[in-house]
Order: sequence, then C-alpha cells, then structure tokens
Amino acid sequence: MAKSTKKSPKNTKPLSGCKKAIDGLRECGAMFHARGWSVGTSSNFSVMVSQDPLELIVTASGKHKERLQRDDFVRIGADGKPTVDGQPNSSAETMLHVVLAGQPQVGAVLHTHSVWSTLLSDMYFADGGFEIEGYEMLKGLAGIQTHETSAWVEIFDNTQDIPRLADQVAQRLNDAEKPLTHGFLIRRHGLYTWGKDLDEARRHIEVFEFLFECVGRRLMLTSQRPNAVSVQ
Ligand SMILES: [Zn+2]
Repeated sequence: MAKSTKKSPKNTKPLSGCKKAIDGLRECGAMFHARGWSVGTSSNFSVMVSQDPLELIVTASGKHKERLQRDDFVRIGADGKPTVDGQPNSSAETMLHVVLAGQPQVGAVLHTHSVWSTLLSDMYFADGGFEIEGYEMLKGLAGIQTHETSAWVEIFDNTQDIPRLADQVAQRLNDAEKPLTHGFLIRRHGLYTWGKDLDEARRHIEVFEFLFECVGRRLMLTSQRPNAVSVQ
C-alpha cells in the first residue's frame, strides 16, 4: 500500500493527548525491567497515535526503561523523524517500529533484550530461526487456538545499519508465501513483537519470553540428562 505523504497539522505539543499511551509504555518499561527483559537503557517501545498520516509515540534514545518519565518519548512520522523540532532523539531502532507499524492490524511494537532471546538467537542463527512446538502458552499469540501447533521464530543478523535491517524485515513481512508473524529475533540482541494494540503486544512479549525460557532451559536439562527419553 502506498504510504501517505500527508502532513499532520503543526502540533507544538507533540505528546499532548497521548498520556494513556505513554503511561502504558512506562508500565511496560517497569515490568520488563523487573523481569530482566529490559535492563539499563536497552529496549524500545512504540504506540501508533495516527494511522494516516502514520505517527508513533516512541521511546527517546538512552532512557532507562525502569524509570521512564512522561517526557521520555518522541512523536515521529513515517520517515522516522520527530514531527516537531526540539523533541529528544528517538531510539536508534526507530525505523523498525515504522516498518512494523505500517502493517495492517499493528497498533503497538515492543522490543526487549532478554538473556534467553539473546542466547537462542545466537544458537539458532545458522538455521535461520527455530520452531516452538506443542506448548500451551502458544495460545497467547494472536490467532492461535490450540497447543497442537508451532510458531517459527525467524532470526535476523544484528547490525547498526537499521535502515537496511528495516528493509529486510519489510521484505519478510510482505512475503507472499510465509510472511513473518507475531515477532522475530535479532542475533545476540533481542526480540521484536507487535500487536493490534499495546495490550496485545505486551502479551506477546510475555508469551515469547516465557517460551524462550522454556526452550533454553529444556536444552540445558536435556544436556544434563543426555540419556533421558523424554522430559514430559
Ligand atoms: Zn535493541
């Protein structure tokens, strides 16, 4: 779909009217930090505040996620740049949020840097990703109704060239045969997931992080009990 080039009316207070979205993202920051998924200034979060023209509220660069303040956010447009001069710099990974938010049915994008996502994204990078199969918690991913299924978690190589990575992700989102769904990993870096709104995206973070820990801990248990037939 062609991106709109419409400009929103000049708004000198870019965060006005976004208190609910901002407080929801601050709550995510505190919770993800408490769980060890967003320590220090790692991670970044966004909520769509306008679909046409596309505008997001995204975390400002370098802010500690446990203690996000109401002014630690930037309103950005479809070019990834602040809609109004004088705002802080947005996260270095802003263009990934823009690409994901440009998809139908995406109202929020969340990104975490957990230990398990960092380790698994390295371990399975050579395979391009890994399958998570048979867990009840898969039903927490939108559209999945049974544990008798599997979710493919694709892994992209890490890079500081975010526009290039955003292009790669856009290509996979638009793949006619097997498009990315629910989320993906970046090697030795972390998880990106999204949802139709912030509640759904937050649930996806919780579900993915739970499943990654299951996959990782199961590998550890299996390696400690190499002759075990089953860990069921
Ligand atoms: Zn990151």
